[in-house]
Order: sequence, then C-alpha cells, then structure tokens
Amino acid sequence: MCDVDYVRSIVNNGLSKSDAVRLFVECDFRVLAKVANEITEKVTGNSVTFVNNVVINYSNICVAQCPICAFYRPPKHPEAYVRSPQEIINAVREARARYGVDELHINGGFNPDLTIEYFEEVFSGVKRAVPEIIIKGPTAAEVDFYARVWRMSSREVLERLKVAGLDVLSGGGAEILSEDVRKIITPYKFDANTWLRIQKEAHEVGLHTNATMLYGHIEQPHHIVEHVMAIKRLQEETGGVLMFIPIKFVPWNTRLLKDGIVKGPAPPEYDIKVIAISRLILGSTIGRIGAYWASTGKRLASTLLLSGANDLVGTMINEQVMKQAGLREYTTIEELASIAREVGRRPYLRDTLHRKLIEVKP
Ligand code: SF4
Repeated sequence: MCDVDYVRSIVNNGLSKSDAVRLFVECDFRVLAKVANEITEKVTGNSVTFVNNVVINYSNICVAQCPICAFYRPPKHPEAYVRSPQEIINAVREARARYGVDELHINGGFNPDLTIEYFEEVFSGVKRAVPEIIIKGPTAAEVDFYARVWRMSSREVLERLKVAGLDVLSGGGAEILSEDVRKIITPYKFDANTWLRIQKEAHEVGLHTNATMLYGHIEQPHHIVEHVMAIKRLQEETGGVLMFIPIKFVPWNTRLLKDGIVKGPAPPEYDIKVIAISRLILGSTIGRIGAYWASTGKRLASTLLLSGANDLVGTMINEQVMKQAGLREYTTIEELASIAREVGRRPYLRDTLHRKLIEVKP
C-alpha cells in the first residue's frame, strides 16, 4: 500500500534505485508530492526564489539538428541569425536599464563559424558595459562542440571564457543521462559521461553550474531515477551545482512529434511525480529544485512548488526556445512572486549564485 507513511519510511531508510523506480511507478502523485513537500520545507522553509534575468541567444544556427529541438535553423536558412557582440551588449544594457535584470542567460546552437574570440568579446564587453551582471551560459554541450571545432580541450575553453567574464555554466545539454535515450533524442550530441566530465571541469576551474533534466518524451521511470542519482553523485563529489532544473519537453514543432515518436506533452501528474521523485532522491544535497514555468505553464508551476520545487528559475525576459516550440508565456517579478504567495510561500529575488535574497513584497 503506497501511502504517505510508507513513502516516508522508504525515504528515511535511504532510497535505493529500485525503491525510487517502484515509488515512481506505483504511488499516486499526491502521495509523492506530500512527502517531497515535507522534505522541501525542512530544507528551505517556506521560501521560493528566482532571479530577474534576460535570455539572449547568440545564434540559432545549429549543425546538431536534434529531433527534440524547435529552436535551431540550419546554416543558410532564411531565419538563421548570429548576433554581433555589440548587439548583445546593447540588449543587456537595455534589459538592465528597463527591467533591472541581474543575470544574462546566454546560449545558442552549435555554429561552427563562431570563434573563441567572438565569445570573449561578448563576455568581456557585457562585463565592461554592465559590471553588475552575472553571466550564465553556455551549456556543457556547447563547450564540448566548440572545443572540438577550436581544437582545444574543454577545460581550456572553460578557463578562457571564465577569464573573459563567464560566471556560471548553464545546466543544459544533460537531457537524459542515458545513451539509449540520447541516441534517439539527441543523436549527434555528446554522451552522458562527457556532460558529467565538463560539469566537473567547470567546478574545478571555479565555475558553478546548474543541472537540468529534459523529461516527458521517450524516457522511462528508471531513466529519470538514474539521471537524478547521477546529479546527486556529482554534487556529492564537487559541491558545484547551484540548482537542479527538470525541464518539461514541449513537443510542438519538433521532429520527435512530426515523426510520431511522441504524441504530445506529458500530463501534469507526470510533471508532479518527476519533481517529487527528484526531491525524494536529492533531499538536501541540492537545496533548490526549479519549477520551470516556461515549459510547464505558470498554473502548474505553482502546484510544483508544493511538490518538491522551491525556485521559479527566473523572469526569463526574451526567452525564445520555448516560444519556438509554441509556448508564449511572459512574466514579471510581481507575477512570479504572486505564484509563490498563492501557495503560501514567501518569494525572494536571488542572484545567480543564490547569494543575495530580497523578499518581494506585495
Ligand atoms: S537542442 Fe541544442 S544542440 Fe540540439 S539542435 Fe537545438 S540548439 Fe542544437
């Protein structure tokens, strides 16, 4: 019988992989969410955090052309673009002046024409123009791709970008850390071990990172459990992960949907289970788990804040990846704060490194 007491006792005795898979498969999502919420309240009380950030994609040109992706355009496509360093610097300056953003989240596709000098010019130019801004991005996947194009080691790329102004590596590219899933959803991207290696290298050169998981496509419960356990081991080893962000797969405009490999988005009960099992596995090893409203929608995000999540990630001004996949949600500091308040939490603005906390008052 999978009730709250049963789940509590399994978790208190140390959750094995087989336990976690069994709970995920057999327990009602409400039961898992209740126990996950109890743990979250012990870890971070009733606070919910998020950063005020702007998202800028330097280029949508990508030669990886993953079946999960609606964002990329092939080289020479009429909608393909590369933003100049000055364009990016101007956009950050404007976002700081108009919205008071504290973070630049910068990512893009695998564009073989870009050089390391381009990224150095972007990062150092942003820091010169707006010194208060914390720069988050690229992902380990981009680091791996560009290291191969530039014939450098990934560690060397990380070190050079850090000197240029990079503060935090974003958590993308992890998808699901299992090769049998990756060969279908991202066949031309790096393998799971390389994602883990580059995360560790980032921690070793003094960069913090986020960690993500893309769920709701072809994965099975054991893939979710193995992924979260791999992130937990990484954190136990290095302590460099700032937060864990499960990202719901949005299938619209992707080849996975067109080819009939997925039929549509996962149901909300599945989202709740994913967040809850993540908290049951991670406990306090990673304090903050993100409710990624840009892919779940804001209504579901508030439920996730009672299911193990305790961070709303960011205002994400100008986010494009989910928009290309058909989602058109926008938000503000006040709206994210009210989502937290609606479920009895106190909203706090944080910086990327989770240092400053300023309560957002009604
Ligand atoms: S997910 Fe990333 S690597 Fe894959 S096609 Fe999209 S931009 Fe390129």
